[in-house]
Amino acid sequence: MKRLLLLCTMVPALLAAKPANLVILFADDLGWGDLGCQGSPVIRTPNLDRMAAEGLRFTDFYSAAEVCTPSRAALLTGRYPLRSGMCATTEAPRRVLFGDSKGGLPQTELTVARALRQQGYATAHIGKWHLGIHEGGRPLDHGFEHSFGLPYSNDMDARPGLPKGSSGSPNPPADGWNVPLLRDGKVVEQPAVQTTLTRRYTEEAVKFITTRKDKPFFLYLAHTFPHVPMFASPAFQGTSRAGIYGDAVEELDWSTGQILEALRNAGLAENTLVLFSSDNGPWLIMGNQGGSAGPLRDGKGSTWEGGMRVPGIAWMPGRITPGVTSQPASALDLFPTALGLAGVKPPADLTLDGRDLTPLLFERAQLPERPFFYYRGDQIYACRLGEWKAHFKTQTGYGQPKPDLHETPLLFHLGRDPSEKRDLAGSHPQVAERLRALAEAQRASVVPGAPQFH
Ligand code: MG
Repeated sequence: MKRLLLLCTMVPALLAAKPANLVILFADDLGWGDLGCQGSPVIRTPNLDRMAAEGLRFTDFYSAAEVCTPSRAALLTGRYPLRSGMCATTEAPRRVLFGDSKGGLPQTELTVARALRQQGYATAHIGKWHLGIHEGGRPLDHGFEHSFGLPYSNDMDARPGLPKGSSGSPNPPADGWNVPLLRDGKVVEQPAVQTTLTRRYTEEAVKFITTRKDKPFFLYLAHTFPHVPMFASPAFQGTSRAGIYGDAVEELDWSTGQILEALRNAGLAENTLVLFSSDNGPWLIMGNQGGSAGPLRDGKGSTWEGGMRVPGIAWMPGRITPGVTSQPASALDLFPTALGLAGVKPPADLTLDGRDLTPLLFERAQLPERPFFYYRGDQIYACRLGEWKAHFKTQTGYGQPKPDLHETPLLFHLGRDPSEKRDLAGSHPQVAERLRALAEAQRASVVPGAPQFH
């Protein structure tokens, strides 16, 4: 009897000591203003709104780059993409990886998946990868035990003769792209049937969650949408006021609801940190298929706020007190946060650019001010410290070949002017100078990785 009692008292302690699970839900090209809880007047996202109401919503959450591949490299490594060579450079000027690119995320990089797997986590990648298709750069090469999804963007591998503008069409041809669907590195469908991708990713995610109940896990679900060409399952087609773009986002919302429900049903909600975000801002040149950055300036491809400030929601019922924070955070922080959650120290020789957000998430601590750098390719275009942001170069996302250079930086107060309309450099020269010096120090200290975008 005594032994049984001892066991009974030990079991809750053992359960409590189980490392927390981590789920990252990552949308593609979703704008800051595209969710109900972010103020969208047209797209209905009740599940994400509920997630935000039950969790912590960041008003000032940033992707670590203005386009896809560098943003994902930074998310998984906690490092600015320049360090891994996963960004455009003068030698390799393409902005993301393409189907014929030879590079990929180098093996020298430690990903959050590999770090957690070393701690006994089960790891799965579902959805878009876009970090390399050759040996050494694929999901299974970077710590994921399972992988199901597209190797790159859904608008790549266009069929020969596909009319120009098809990807931004409200009714794109289903057979317009030959992008493959891969399971554990092997092609299982080509072309991937895009209309049902979100549904199938979701089913795969729920299956992974429900079969990994007895082992800590890390799930990285990187949705294909709302990147153009825009597709949604039949149940969502034609249902949103915002057209097919809204249909696709509302299906992502449904997906999020399914995943949170699966965690609740499995009794895992209180021990799983779920983070929802987007890889960059809305692709505005796609018109109605391009989403909205709300009040923020510009979109995908630019270092104005609309290009990199994205939705950010953290959810862990019972651990995270519901609320909203305006403290800046970024995708760079997710790797150190994952290690903090698992109770693991990062390797001493690893330079991380992000920081552990668990004191903010779980204790609502005020984190010390630190600069955030807005890179476009290998160049620092802007820097934020506290509420201030200085631009050294500006360039719209697409269609402007060369940046405007600002000898005297443009200076905006993001608290009072999130739309970056009123340049205050003239009245606050010392602030502009401080931010310029921070960017200069960053330039001088970062050791670039070998360029990968060739
Ligand atoms: Mg993207």
